[in-house]
Amino acid sequence: MTAAAPDANLREFCERCEEETRHAVAIQLRVENAEADKPKCSREPYRVSKCLVCDSTVTRRMNDA
Ligand SMILES: [Zn+2]
Repeated sequence: MTAAAPDANLREFCERCEEETRHAVAIQLRVENAEADKPKCSREPYRVSKCLVCDSTVTRRMNDA
């Protein structure tokens, strides 16, 4: 994993807890199959944040326009 410095203990809203909780946030590069109309974008950064209360993980693509 090529990750930036782990940004631990960020406060974010958790949908499962329905309130702001502490999250561990990491950036992941994921390889995508460029079968669609983006032949150049084979690796996409994803932001993965995990709620430290309920352990649910939210993965969000960072390059969504
Ligand atoms: Zn939660």
